[in-house]
Amino acid sequence: MHAVSGPSTIEAPERSDFIRDIVAADHAAGRVSSVVTRFPPEPNGRLHIGHAKSICLNFGIAAEFGGRCHLRFDDTNPTKEEQEYIDAIEADVRWLGFDWGEHLYHASDYFEQLYAWAVHLIEASLAYVDDLSGEEIREHRGTLTEPGRPSPWRDRPVAESLDLFARMRAGEFPNGARVLRARIDMASPNINLRDPVLYRIVHAAHPRTGDAWCIYPTYDFAHGQSDAIEGVTHSICTLEFENHRPLYDWLIEHLPVPSRPRQYEFARLNLTWTVLSKRFLLRLVDEGHVRGWDDPRMPTIAGLRRRGYPAEGIRDFATAIGVSKADSVVELARLEHAVRAVLNRDAPRRMAVLDPLKVVITNYPEGQVEELEAVNNPENESAGTRLVPFGRELWIERDDFMEDPPARFYRLTPGREVRLRYAYFITCHEVVKDASGAVVELRCTYDPATRGGDAPDGRRPKATLHWVFAERAVAAEVRLYEPLFVRSDPGADGDLLVDLNPDSERVLSGCYLEPAAAGSPVGETVQFERLGYFCVDPDTAPGRPVFDRTVSLKDTWAKVQARGQGGG
Ligand code: ATP
Ligand code: MG
Repeated sequence: MHAVSGPSTIEAPERSDFIRDIVAADHAAGRVSSVVTRFPPEPNGRLHIGHAKSICLNFGIAAEFGGRCHLRFDDTNPTKEEQEYIDAIEADVRWLGFDWGEHLYHASDYFEQLYAWAVHLIEASLAYVDDLSGEEIREHRGTLTEPGRPSPWRDRPVAESLDLFARMRAGEFPNGARVLRARIDMASPNINLRDPVLYRIVHAAHPRTGDAWCIYPTYDFAHGQSDAIEGVTHSICTLEFENHRPLYDWLIEHLPVPSRPRQYEFARLNLTWTVLSKRFLLRLVDEGHVRGWDDPRMPTIAGLRRRGYPAEGIRDFATAIGVSKADSVVELARLEHAVRAVLNRDAPRRMAVLDPLKVVITNYPEGQVEELEAVNNPENESAGTRLVPFGRELWIERDDFMEDPPARFYRLTPGREVRLRYAYFITCHEVVKDASGAVVELRCTYDPATRGGDAPDGRRPKATLHWVFAERAVAAEVRLYEPLFVRSDPGADGDLLVDLNPDSERVLSGCYLEPAAAGSPVGETVQFERLGYFCVDPDTAPGRPVFDRTVSLKDTWAKVQARGQGGG
C-alpha cells in the first residue's frame, strides 16, 4: 500500500461533475459574478456521512470558483430542533475542515421578511388561509393519477385571509386550526403545486426566536427565499427535492426577492451496511442501542471522529465517489479504503496484544531489561524511532500459537523458531497447561545473536510476531467494532431494528499495550502492528486507556480495484 501524498484535495481544480460543469458554464458566461453556495442543515439531529458529501460539494465548489459557502440552519420546526444540535453541527463542519467565515445564517433570521412576503402573496390572491384540518387537506390533495379538489376556503376574500393570517400570528388559534396555503393549481400533475402549505401554527418556543412566533414557515416557503436573501447562486440539494423545484421557482417568480437563485439536485449518498437517516439515528440514540450520537458505530461525523476516521479521509472519500444524478449505493469498503490511506501515511505504529498468552524466555537473564529500537512509521522517516522495553516474560497473541497446527500455519508452534518484531528469534520448547488443558504459558529460548530481528547466518523465520514486555505492559480496554447491521442492505425486509447486529461492539478488557501506546492522547489513532488502526477513546481514564478499532488492516476495496472491478 502506498501513502497518499500532496496537498489536501479540498481544492483539486481538475475535478469535474455535472454540477461543477453548470457552475463553470454560469461563471464563464457571466451569469453569476461570484459563486455562492450554502449547506442548510436542519438542527434536529447530528450530521452524518451523507451530509459530509453535501458539505464537501458545497464548500468545495465555492473554494474552487473563488466564491463562498454559507452555513445556514434551516430552523423552521421548533418542536424538533435544539441549540445543542446547532452547536454540534458547527463543530462538525469545522472539524471536517471547512470555514464559512462570517456567513453563518439561520432561516429564523428571515422570519419577519418571510411573513411580509406571505402577506404579499395573499394580497396578490396567490395565497389564502385555509380552515381545513391537516387530514382534510390530505384528502383534498388527490393522488398521482387523480387531480386534487379545491378547499372551500380557496376563494375567500383577500381581506379575510389577511385578517386571519394576522390573527394566526397573534396566537389566537390552536395548533393545526388553520394554515396558509399558496394558491397555485389543484389539478397540477405535480402534487407539490396543489396549493402547498406555506405556514402552520406551532405553539412552541424556538431555540433562537423564543416565543416571538407561533406560526412557522414550511421548508418550501423558507428555503428558496432564504437563498434569495443571501444571494445564493447555486442551491444544491438531493434528488428528493427535484419535484419541489417548480414550487421553488414559482415562489421566486412571484415574490419581490432580491436575487434569483437556482436549485440543482444530485444523488444522495447511500452506503452499504449503513443507515443515513437522522430520524432513525435519533431512534438508535433514544432507545439506547448505541452509546450516543458519537458512538463509534454511528455514521455520524461525531461517531466517525470518535472512531478515529481522519477528516482528510472523509474528504478524500467524497472526492473519490464524485457527484451524479443517478441513485446508487456506495460500498462501505470505499470509505474504509480512503481512511486507511490517510492512516497508513500518518498513524504511529505501536505494539499491543489483545488476547494475551504468556511467553517465558528461559535463557534470558532474570531481572534484565533492555530497550530495543522500533520504527514509528515506515511510511514517514521523520516520525523517527522509539525504544520498546524487552525482558524475560512477554505477552504474545493467543492465536499466534498452535500446538497442533495445520499445514500452512507458520507462526509459533512447539519446536519452531519465529521472529519477535524488533527483538529476537525465539523457539518454543514447552507448553504449560492448566487443569482444564488450556494453554497458559509457553516456555521458549531466544537466540541472543538475532538482536533487532536479523540472524548473522541469514536464516529467516517464516513469521514475525508482535509482543509486549509483561513487566512494563499497560493494561487496556479495546473495543472492536463491526457494522451496526447484519446485512449490507439494512431494512430491506422491513424493520431496521430487526437487522441490528447484536455483536457490533465487542469489549476486550484484558489487553496489553507497550508503554508508548499508553501515552497517546484521546483522539489519536495509532496502528497496532498486525492488528489494525485504533483510536484513543474519550472513556480513557488515567492509567486505563480505552482504544476503539478504527478499521482493520485488510483493504477489501483495494482488492476489488486490483481485480479490475472497481470504479472511480
Ligand atoms: P436525513 O435524511 O438524514 O434526515 P435531511 O435531508 O433531513 O437528512 P438536512 O439537515 O435537511 O437533513 O440536510 C442538510 C443537507 O444535507 C441537505 O441539503 C440534504 O440534501 C443534504 N443531505 C442529507 N442527507 C444526505 C445524503 N445522504 N447524501 C448527500 N446529501 C445529503
Ligand atoms: Mg431535510
